[in-house]
Amino acid sequence: MSAAFSALMRAVFPPLCVFCGDLADENGIFCPHCTMRWENETHLLCPVCGKSEMLCRCVPAGAVGAVSSAYRLAPYYPGRRTAAAALIYALKDRGERRAVDYAARAIAHQLISDGVGSDIIVTNAPRRADKIRSRGFDQSELLARAAAKLIGAKYVRTMKSSAKTDQKGLSAAERVKNAEDSYSLTASARGKIAGRDILLVDDILTSGATTRACAGILYAAGARDIRGVYIAVSSGEG
Ligand SMILES: [Zn+2]
Ligand SMILES: [Zn+2]
Repeated sequence: MSAAFSALMRAVFPPLCVFCGDLADENGIFCPHCTMRWENETHLLCPVCGKSEMLCRCVPAGAVGAVSSAYRLAPYYPGRRTAAAALIYALKDRGERRAVDYAARAIAHQLISDGVGSDIIVTNAPRRADKIRSRGFDQSELLARAAAKLIGAKYVRTMKSSAKTDQKGLSAAERVKNAEDSYSLTASARGKIAGRDILLVDDILTSGATTRACAGILYAAGARDIRGVYIAVSSGEG
């Protein structure tokens, strides 16, 4: 798209803040006020390592043993309206391209600063097949593909989900069982995983059941190392 055409589109359809609906600033995602809220969220300090969310690589409690390190942009507080939650809903409910690109760029910065290179395989925790059919997209796949492109790595769709039940409303034990029963390796992934380092992308980590189930499948397929990548990780606080 030419710069002039982009400018015209912005004038006719100005991007609105995904959080409050006011006019977005030049980042195209948040208004100036909500940009500050988002930046505050990304600068909250991890209680374990003391670094900001953007610099912390701590593995969340629910994913210990499943991933060797974890990237996140912001904390997630279940039920609380935060800029991170607004960004995730723009991605999850509407598959908004600007939300995909914004999150992918922020994630790619972290990966590149850690020296994560083009030899890594990027994949995602798959959304339930019935949700993909009704929504028309898998938000974690959109994010994984965009991030892979930015770091020059290969995206592989390694897994599919046949889950019938939403994880929401299940007990911790039921979540683990549901997740373990749900995922399977795709035919196209066979032979591409063995001996490789993997980036497992998901929009949000809450209990860690999804990450554990997906990591189990990837390790069984011969993955050497798995790192988790999330927009937001549940802080465990309400
Ligand atoms: Zn706003
Ligand atoms: Zn940390």
